[in-house]
Amino acid sequence: MEFEAWWLLLPIAFFALGWFAARIDIRYVLRDARALPSAYFRGLNYLLRQENDKAVESFVDVSKRDPHALDLQLALGSLFRRQGRVSDATAIHQSLVDRHDLPKEKRELALFELAQDFHASGMFDRAETLYGQLKGTSYEAEATTKLASVLEQEKEWEKVIEARERIASLNSLPQDRLIAQSHCEIADVALAKNDLDAVRKSLASAESHNRNSGRAKLLAFRAALRGTAPAEATAALQELMRVQPELVALVSDEIVAFFGPEQSAVAIEQLAAAQRVAPSSIGLSKLIDASIKIEGREKALLRLRAELQRNPSARETARLLDLESENESNSGGTTMKEVAELLRRATEKTPGYHCGHCGFHAPRYYWKCPGCNEWESFRATPLG
Ligand SMILES: [Zn+2]
Repeated sequence: MEFEAWWLLLPIAFFALGWFAARIDIRYVLRDARALPSAYFRGLNYLLRQENDKAVESFVDVSKRDPHALDLQLALGSLFRRQGRVSDATAIHQSLVDRHDLPKEKRELALFELAQDFHASGMFDRAETLYGQLKGTSYEAEATTKLASVLEQEKEWEKVIEARERIASLNSLPQDRLIAQSHCEIADVALAKNDLDAVRKSLASAESHNRNSGRAKLLAFRAALRGTAPAEATAALQELMRVQPELVALVSDEIVAFFGPEQSAVAIEQLAAAQRVAPSSIGLSKLIDASIKIEGREKALLRLRAELQRNPSARETARLLDLESENESNSGGTTMKEVAELLRRATEKTPGYHCGHCGFHAPRYYWKCPGCNEWESFRATPLG
């Protein structure tokens, strides 16, 4: 009987222990909940007053007490970078990377964020090193994509190719078009040095990644001109016409020089054919330049009138008026010249090219947009 009575006391004892434990827990949570915001606001105040060292001290203090604070700190750092406050972001992320008590995954994330801070502030060497340290982590694919962008800015084309091949193996995203561009960059440098063997080698690599690379065809044409290989040049020009006729205007002067006075009609026909397939303001302008030089003013005028009837363009109409006014000796001629001048002034800011991705305008062609860093996004400004 004595044993059974003692047994009945057990539930009461458990209840008391549970109540006691719950009170300790609640007190602990309440204490932290009260402590956390004040430390955070203290840290934020330091940041707003540009007292970065004290701010970081406060945040470190908070994140040591609460693992959730670590996520908040990472989010805050990322937010600062997006707002352009890169030094504040760097201070937060550097303090996290310097800690040795972080879980592996959080440390890797802090490292990735810090690499992006260095990238954003133009410290490419440090960004490159940190992106490289993320090899084998869950951030490797993203880090390698950003690393490729850093290497492109540093014009380290061999390393860019390596990085892009790694990206393709990590996430199966097609990189061939971009790898071909890197090979073309190498070919471009070799062409400037007149190293034609190196140019051919790089162009073959470019074509193995992108058979329809307009840039590779264009460079092959230029290389053939340097190497005085007319058959190769003709073949490269035909290929350029086939894959990207809008790029023909970029080599219009070289085309005129290549065909020479004997075959000048062929040169004009090449430029006219490109203009028919891919009409653009710059293409028409180059065609008329070549026509004046080769066929003379009268024929150029007829050609320009026919082209404008097909595709009207304010800028080129100014040129038409200018050419026509030379046939008029009376006051009509003066008026035509004045109207041509007004039209020219109204359209002189019309750019030759623009980015189809971000809208960046430029008088010259870029393989990679300086505005948004997108490859092959430049288009010739249409007639109009
Ligand atoms: Zn752009």
